[in-house]
Amino acid sequence: MPVGTQGSVKAIEQRELDEIGAQIILGNTYHLYLRPGTELVKSAGGLHKFIGWRKPILTDSGGYQVFSLNDLREIEEEGVTFKSHLDGSSHVFTPESVVRIQRELGSDIMMVLDECAPFPSDLEYTRRSNALTIRWAERCKQAFVTGSGLYGHSQALFGIVQGSVYPEIRRESARALVDIGFDGYAVGGLAVGEPAEVMYSMIEVCEPLLPGSQPRYLMGVGTPINLIEAVARGIDMFDCVLPTRNGRNANLFTRNGSINIRNAKYKTDFDAPDDECRCYTCSNFSRAYLRHLFQVKEILGLQLATIHNLAFYLWLMSCMREAIKEHRFDAWSKSMITRLRQEETPLPE
Ligand SMILES: [Zn+2]
Repeated sequence: MPVGTQGSVKAIEQRELDEIGAQIILGNTYHLYLRPGTELVKSAGGLHKFIGWRKPILTDSGGYQVFSLNDLREIEEEGVTFKSHLDGSSHVFTPESVVRIQRELGSDIMMVLDECAPFPSDLEYTRRSNALTIRWAERCKQAFVTGSGLYGHSQALFGIVQGSVYPEIRRESARALVDIGFDGYAVGGLAVGEPAEVMYSMIEVCEPLLPGSQPRYLMGVGTPINLIEAVARGIDMFDCVLPTRNGRNANLFTRNGSINIRNAKYKTDFDAPDDECRCYTCSNFSRAYLRHLFQVKEILGLQLATIHNLAFYLWLMSCMREAIKEHRFDAWSKSMITRLRQEETPLPE
């Protein structure tokens, strides 16, 4: 899912998202609640109409953003009180209010309010935090089943498995959420600074406990290799800012590893950014031209890099779907990972 934090996937139009085959995008409840505000989105007829996107939208619960505000928030049983990063005004998110806000936004997939424990968190803190997250998940489910959508389409509600890097808490969390019953299950609280191997082992811990017939969503991940390793462990859905954010920083993902298009070696390189890619950028423009656009700070550089990176991520996911259907995922993933490692420059976790 391309990430459209404020109702816009940065540097790319909805028309282009459609053209590259994006099936669903993500919006951030926290940001949209503050600006433009849910009342305005509601009077526009919901988020789809407001932003001109007809395909599905997933909204997060706002929890992750609120809990990133460290000294601007206070957690209690009822919910979390936080101060807006914009003007310092005080707000409260409760399990019930985030369901109501997401009803008003009209997203197709809504997420429960959870506490994303910081990394590292000790065992005792994680245990208490997870117990609260489970109680909040129950309240979200209750608010969900007693309400209904405002715009005539159905909405799904996903639970979020927490538990930091502690296998026993991850298992408790997964079991409790499955008991409550959700339309899909996210694995949250990963990709927050722990080593990739730890992230993979936490997915392995949760996977056998989550129903195979429902989607599993790994939140906030990751590099192309992270995606392949997570799919190998049973994950179906992802959201990540890497393709868009890195694109705007001149970092292009290719089948042969990522490249920094600002690099001097591309000055006279008239090949496509990725010669196997069929996206608009690679079909029409050279590495030399993209480098030039970044050198002279033309907006088109950000747009073309974003189109390519998102097209690349969607291509990678479609390859995995095909390989799974044709029972050749293991062989495909081994050769793809070898290719991706070739030049991939280390990315920040
Ligand atoms: Zn491309």
